Amino acid sequence: MSAVLEERPSATATDSAAAMVAAVRALADGPLRDAADATDRGTYPRALMQALGAAGAYRAHIGPGAAPGDFASAIRAMAEVSRVCGATGFMVWCQQVCGLYLQQSGNPALTGEFLQRHISGQQLGATGMSNPMKAYAGIEPLLLKATPCDGGYRVNGTLPWVSNLGADHYAGVLAGVEGLQDSQQGASREVMFLLRCDAPGVELRNCPSFSAMEGTNTWALRLTDHFIGADEIIADPAKPWIARIRAGFILLQTGFGLGVTQGAIDSMWAVEPALGHVNQFLEDRPDELQAELDALWERIETLSLTPFAQEKDYFIDVLDARAHASELALRAAQSALLHAGARGYLLSSDVQRRVRESHFVAIVSPAIKHLRKEIARLSAPEMPT
Ligand SMILES: Cc1cc2nc3c(=O)[nH]c(=O)nc-3n(C[C@H](O)[C@H](O)[C@H](O)COP(=O)(O)OP(=O)(O)OC[C@H]3O[C@@H](n4cnc5c(N)ncnc54)[C@H](O)[C@@H]3O)c2cc1C
Repeated sequence: MSAVLEERPSATATDSAAAMVAAVRALADGPLRDAADATDRGTYPRALMQALGAAGAYRAHIGPGAAPGDFASAIRAMAEVSRVCGATGFMVWCQQVCGLYLQQSGNPALTGEFLQRHISGQQLGATGMSNPMKAYAGIEPLLLKATPCDGGYRVNGTLPWVSNLGADHYAGVLAGVEGLQDSQQGASREVMFLLRCDAPGVELRNCPSFSAMEGTNTWALRLTDHFIGADEIIADPAKPWIARIRAGFILLQTGFGLGVTQGAIDSMWAVEPALGHVNQFLEDRPDELQAELDALWERIETLSLTPFAQEKDYFIDVLDARAHASELALRAAQSALLHAGARGYLLSSDVQRRVRESHFVAIVSPAIKHLRKEIARLSAPEMPT
């Protein structure tokens, strides 16, 4: 049997995945829709985040042991949420990808009961990996430094923006290790760990106001001589571990862009009876965008069958699909605004909110510019040694 077929979910898993996505859609169309405006403006939807966990939105991609689960259904759940509220959809990704870190850590302190509480939404977690991803792509230096000490490390530094945080939350983060190197000569060495917000030496600091996504509980995380020991380690050294999870990390994030795009298409159809006679002269009409979105879904579902594949061409394809999701979200949100006209220019309009959400889809790491840089680097012909 091929690796692809082995990783395909069973018929039973597929039935339960469909039920999970339907339960998430019911939440999205009900309480989540009612809360979307407040979430955009600053209210953190904690109870909804936990209800989504109870509905199963954070567990589909977690297979038994270290095996991958059903990534496509996890992406679909995130898209259902993002279709209605991009801010909550983004936090679904934060929670899902943090679950992936815990599962893949293989650390008994972070798997077992701890992982179960996370994927059921009883505990909430975050990801502070924008800076390391940009550091690995040569865009900026690593902001956290770990100094080896008795039984672990002391970590110092500040991450400027981490979402889905709270006093009793935690985040998967990475620090450069000072004075230690990988066996590969001269290579830097990093440690990835779970940062508990209530631990000594951890401070949550206010961020400036954003143009959207204000209810995402986004804080700066400042660490001062913060101790991490065996119970916090996700991967040490981190580099080979990151190579295993990076495609899954990026693939999961596509649910955010796919959902924002679908929400924009929905709002174009909503004004069609009244404005179709003049909107027919616009570009990026809803039927055209829907066809492009459906084709992108198909591509992402195929990529989701092998989220831990290591081949370079596969990874380039994942980066390209993620970039396509961003570009499509931007185009769809802008076209929805043109379709809606002045009613979409009201501050209270979901069409207006979605324009700002689509901007975040395109700038959150990996941003479009970051994705294109990585695709260019990986596609460059290899120099003979
Ligand atoms: C609402 C929101 C939520 C976010 N949530 C998360 C999260 O959950 N996890 C996570 O890891 N990252 C998060 N980020 C960070 C995000 O993924 C990007 O890394 C970030 O927006 C910077 O990317 P960039 O492409 O602008 O960086 P670049 O354009 O490459 O800029 C490089 C660096 O310059 C600095 N910089 C530029 N402008 C400013 C400024 N005005 N103020 C301070 N520093 C600046 C930053 O350090 C930035 O990373 C969030 C950002 C925002 C706005």
